[in-house]
This record gives sequence, structure tokens and C-alpha cells, in this order.
Amino acid sequence: MPNPAGAEGPHIREFEPLKPYTTFKMGGPARFFIEAGSADELCQGLGLARKRALPHFVLGGGSNVLISDRGFDGVVLHPIFRGVSLPSVNTPETHLNVLAGEIWDDVVKFTAERGLWGIENLSHIPGQAGAALVQNIGAYGQQVGDVLESTSVLEIATGTQQVLSPADCEFGYRRSIFNTTARGQYIILGIRLKLSRTPRRVLDYPDVRAYFDERGIKDPPLTKIRQAIISIRDRKFPFPREEKGGNAGSFFKNLTISEREYEALHEKVSRNFSPRVLERLTEIRNRFPAASQIKIPAAFLIDICGLKGYRIGAAQVNESQPLVLVNRGGGTAADVLALALHVRRTVWARTGAALAIEPELVGFSEQELKAIHNFKEN
Ligand SMILES: Cc1cc2nc3c(=O)[nH]c(=O)nc-3n(C[C@H](O)[C@H](O)[C@H](O)COP(=O)(O)OP(=O)(O)OC[C@H]3O[C@@H](n4cnc5c(N)ncnc54)[C@H](O)[C@@H]3O)c2cc1C
Repeated sequence: MPNPAGAEGPHIREFEPLKPYTTFKMGGPARFFIEAGSADELCQGLGLARKRALPHFVLGGGSNVLISDRGFDGVVLHPIFRGVSLPSVNTPETHLNVLAGEIWDDVVKFTAERGLWGIENLSHIPGQAGAALVQNIGAYGQQVGDVLESTSVLEIATGTQQVLSPADCEFGYRRSIFNTTARGQYIILGIRLKLSRTPRRVLDYPDVRAYFDERGIKDPPLTKIRQAIISIRDRKFPFPREEKGGNAGSFFKNLTISEREYEALHEKVSRNFSPRVLERLTEIRNRFPAASQIKIPAAFLIDICGLKGYRIGAAQVNESQPLVLVNRGGGTAADVLALALHVRRTVWARTGAALAIEPELVGFSEQELKAIHNFKEN
């Protein structure tokens, strides 16, 4: 067909299956699919959406989305502009410019190989560099927001480019303005990271400490830390691979609760579970003796509810890491949604804890979204 964005516009595909673009390996077609090689091409894609009165959606590496089996009746914009540049000045702190479509893990590898500290614990997280800001990716004690110097964005309403500071982004646990207050308002074009040439080891996480203790390594070099993280993650986390179906990493967020909320949880767990389970909950609470906010692993709650391995169709709660919902192969997004609803309902009924969903749900009907969001009603 003639290019709907104009003769000079980006290449546009129609009814493009989205399944191959997601790590869940699920999802129907996009009405229009645009691989945008520049901010200008993003604008042209947005123009097409406006002209056709269709919604748009920015799809990075597809590792934090669940796309409906019917697909997305709108314009999918897939950034493909890549590049990492490092100013040659050798100061202790080094600024790294990365374009949004760059593969995040390639950026981590690049920095580890050049002795730049700050994101090594974020090794092997799938997805693109731009999307890393959206939920402020974090792992093993590091978060991308902690090393962000600035980000350049395209403001969708005006088509203008702006530079935002970390304060503007309002980072928190798995959150930023991009997935909360300013959701859908910006497209991230590039990020500028402030890294360090001086070692800044973050080895406090038990798995990381155990890895180096077992090997008798006291001050591991940067590349060894990256290697350790990859090895720990590969052991624990089902990295999505084509032949084995897929997943989108953690499907549920961990809970951060107040002392008062903890008391309510404690009370409900003491009523519905064994003394051993209550002991485990108390051990978790005691990890934060002085904290006003207590972090409760969602995996613990799913586990005590007996949901490990629970399956609907080809969608299953992962046995070793129950935060992850897995597509065992040939699964549908409807299966995953039904499974997520079952998990949320069960955990709510038995512990009173409301699990929040991490991936973005794309292309689902109002009714489907209402069902998943109203999990407290039976
Ligand atoms: C095996 C596995 C392990 C994971 N481990 C972790 C982990 O340890 N820690 C963690 O935090 N996350 C983890 N994740 C989640 C995921 O990898 C991250 O959230 C990642 O940053 C998503 O990037 P993406 O490019 O795949 O984004 P997508 O899934 O394509 O998109 C996610 C969201 O970002 C938006 N978006 C994408 N690009 C842009 C852009 N340029 N501008 C504006 N919005 C954009 C999308 O519209 C969507 O709302 C894991 C996922 C998997 C599958």
C-alpha cells in the first residue's frame, strides 16, 4: 500500500503480528507498525495515528508488556535508533549518551568492558535503554534512576524535544512519571548516564555476597560482578527463550507497606496459615527493624497461598520464582490474564494483600481490564 505517512515517511507495516516482538511470545497484530529510526519518524507515526483517529503505543523490546490476543488497533511505534557515545575526557565521572533503541544489556556490557561503574548489577535485564527509565529498572541494589544525568524526550502533545532531569522523572520503586503521572505524554529519545571510574561495588544482596564468599573473592572487578549477576540471574530467573515459550519477568510488584498495614497482614496470616508461615513473615519483617516502610516479597505471598506451579491453559506460575508468570508454549494472553486474576484474588482473599501488576496491559477491552482491576470483588 502507499505509505500512509507520506512518500518520505518511515516504513509502515499493516497488521504486523506483535508476538515476535515480545518476550512473552504472545499478542495479536498491530493495525500499523512503524520502525522509527529518528524522532522525526516518531512524529510522522504520531501524525498517522492522529489522522486516522487511532491510539498509539511505544513498543521497545517488549519485555514488560502483555499484548492482547486481538492485538492493538492503533499505531505501534518501535524505536530503532541506536548508539552509545562516550566523551573521551578521562574524568573520574563519565557521562555516557545512549539512544533509546539501544539494547540495555549491550549498554551494561559496554560499560563493564570500559571500567565504568554504576549499572553492572543491572546486567541481563532485557529491553531497550529508553524503556529502562519507564519503570526505573532495578536489581541487586542498583536502579537506573540513580545514575541518570538527564533524558531527552519528545513531548507528544507539542512534538517538541525537551530535556528532563532525574528530579523531573520522579523515580521510585518500579515507577517514574513515564508510567504514572505523565504516562503517554512523552517518548524517551535518549538517556545520559553519570558513571564512575572509581569502583562503587554494590554487593549487599545475599545472593551476590554468597557468590563471592563461596569463591573467596573480596573486591571483585567490574567484569566479574557482571558475570556473577548473569550467573545468579540465569540460575533463578527463566530468561525468555524462543523454544520454551516466554515470560515478562516479574508479573507482580513487591509490596512496600507501612507498619500499620504490616499489622493487618500479620493478623490475617496468623488466622489463615500455620505458625511456621507466620514465623517466616516475622523474619521478613525483622529485616527492616527501623524502617517506616516494610518490603514484603510478593513471591512469598504467592508461595504461601500454594500457587507455585498453578496453571491455566499454557500460562503457569513459575515454580522456582512465583513472581514470574510463564508461557509454557503456545499460550494466549487470555490465559495469562485469567491466571493473574486468580493469583490476585487468592492472595487478596487469604492475606489481604493487593498485588500490583508490573507489565503494561496493551490492547485489552475495558471489560477485560475492569475484571483484572476489580480483583477484590468476587
Ligand atoms: C526475564 C526478564 C527479567 C527482567 N528483570 C527485570 C529486573 O530485574 N528489573 C526490572 O526492573 N525489570 C526487569 N524486567 C522487566 C523489563 O525487562 C524492563 O521493564 C525493561 O526496561 C522493559 O524494556 P522494553 O524495551 O522491553 O520495554 P517494553 O516492554 O517494550 O515497554 C514497557 C513500557 O515502556 C514504554 N516504552 C518503551 N519504550 C519507550 C520509550 N522510548 N519512550 C517512552 N515509553 C517507552 C512502553 O510503552 C511500555 O509502557 C525483566 C523482564 C524479563 C522478561
